[in-house]
Amino acid sequence: LSPVPSDIEISRAQTPKPVDQLAQEIGLLQEETEAYGRTKAKVRLSLLDRLREQPDGKYVLVAGITPTPLGEGKSTVVIGLVQALSAHLKLNSFACLRQPSQGPTFGVKGGAAGGGYAQVIPMEEFNLHLTGDIHAITAANNLVAAAIDARMLHEATQKDKALYSRLVPSVNGVRRFSPIQIARLRRLGISEIDPSALMPQEVSSFVRLDLDPAKVTWQRVVDTNDRFLRKITVGQASTEKGHVRETQFDIAVASEIMAILALADGLGDMKTRLGRMVVGSSRSGQPVTAEDLGVSGALAVLMKDAIKPTLMQTLEGSPVFVHAGPFANIAHGNSSVLADKLALKLVGEDGFVVTEAGFGADIGMEKFFNIKCRASGLRPNVVVLVATVRALKMHGGGPNVLLNAVPCHHWARGGRGSVELAQAVKQAGSQPSHFQFLYSQETPIVEKIRMIAQKVYGADDIELSPEAQAKIDYYNQQGYGKLPICMAKTHLSLSHLPEKKGTPTGFTLPIRDIRASIGAGFIYPLVGTMSTMPGLPTRPCFYDIDLDPVTEEITGLF
Ligand code: ADP
Repeated sequence: LSPVPSDIEISRAQTPKPVDQLAQEIGLLQEETEAYGRTKAKVRLSLLDRLREQPDGKYVLVAGITPTPLGEGKSTVVIGLVQALSAHLKLNSFACLRQPSQGPTFGVKGGAAGGGYAQVIPMEEFNLHLTGDIHAITAANNLVAAAIDARMLHEATQKDKALYSRLVPSVNGVRRFSPIQIARLRRLGISEIDPSALMPQEVSSFVRLDLDPAKVTWQRVVDTNDRFLRKITVGQASTEKGHVRETQFDIAVASEIMAILALADGLGDMKTRLGRMVVGSSRSGQPVTAEDLGVSGALAVLMKDAIKPTLMQTLEGSPVFVHAGPFANIAHGNSSVLADKLALKLVGEDGFVVTEAGFGADIGMEKFFNIKCRASGLRPNVVVLVATVRALKMHGGGPNVLLNAVPCHHWARGGRGSVELAQAVKQAGSQPSHFQFLYSQETPIVEKIRMIAQKVYGADDIELSPEAQAKIDYYNQQGYGKLPICMAKTHLSLSHLPEKKGTPTGFTLPIRDIRASIGAGFIYPLVGTMSTMPGLPTRPCFYDIDLDPVTEEITGLF
């Protein structure tokens, strides 16, 4: 229609096919799906085993130039392109997208289901709770936080001192328990005191972790742009006996557990990674992990359904996997490895899987290549770079923009508006790929950061704060030096300064601080003033969102 109606009107005007019909069309067996209502289904990972021998399809990445705050249409291109490939070029194809965070949905940008005639439907289900994966991440993340503070309190109180008395490591690395611990273990029915034979949870409740409150790096999370949680004090009730400390909330999609969900290659791998997460260090400088806290089994239980990708469909009925949703500025910015792997098998050798890297190519695409592809072993065949006239004007600084690219009209016309792009992608997919990583894992941490700063951002050099340098020394000492780098940097400029548009030169990139996500498997430098909890603007999107209690119709989502 012209003019193009609102996104929610378009979404509602199309009746999605039942998800079991969609599942059947793409070759799933009945026992491989778990329906959540009529339009969404989780897909079981057993599918990967069944299709092990099937050759992969072509792997297409959609990235963008440095965006404006409103988004540049990458998700919309992914959906338009898949609609064109499947409905118009008659090729098997699949879109793999991230689950949107409620931060932007109610903040500035709005939803992330695409737009116009290139959308995932029903868009309100896609944009809001979906199948609860972000809620599961929030629950798991905050269980770790609660375990940390409770553990520090209990270890410090007189009553529990005996219970948490220190382990005495022996010369051969075999741990010995105190007489009180041995008595407790016997009461649990464990007579042979060999820690390697114990459940980690049981061992952990006897070990004195001696966490240093000043060195806890784990934060609580919530999926709302709640700027007042950037710095908080916990433990103020009298029951916490003065164990007060300053901490902060991050947005849920910045949780390490979200990064793990996106990078894990199965339930076992996810569980191992969850256990490996470092939450802080002891007073003697030893890293303390989720496994040490005895919480990793419970985390795997909370995350057991989240690990299955959710199947949905585009407006024109092509399949879409929605799975994981890390932001690209403060996390690694890509949907899950598992969804991509499943989709590549499902489309088969001649098919196409189109996925998206968040924000601009400097962050989302760089992390897709150097973190996601390194973790998955997959290699992209084609990259589509989205450049809107709006963003080109902003970076060019003037109203005249010269375009030399494939123009797309999927927003106004659906899949048939992107046939030219689909043909270009098909053509590019038949060419050999010359993919290479930017840096080798063996390169020292500082050098890896410098390579990203100079070769991707165009910086002259980097400048490390003394705090960042001290942490790098500690990480090297702990053996974390071979991990890839996940820069936390503004998405609004190639540099660290959001107001510097175009291709800035002559700047030095300041590394304020650095964190380590050992479970996810990357080192996480914080560039400039980047915050891990966004705020709400003066006119947030939630003003426009409403529900008609009679028809249950939602208005104002886009
Ligand atoms: P990104 O994935 O780059 O963040 P989105 O695909 O989510 O961007 O698009 C951002 C917004 O721009 C959405 O509201 C979408 O409806 C709108 N949009 C995308 N493409 C077009 C277009 N060709 N014309 C008009 N609006 C568009």
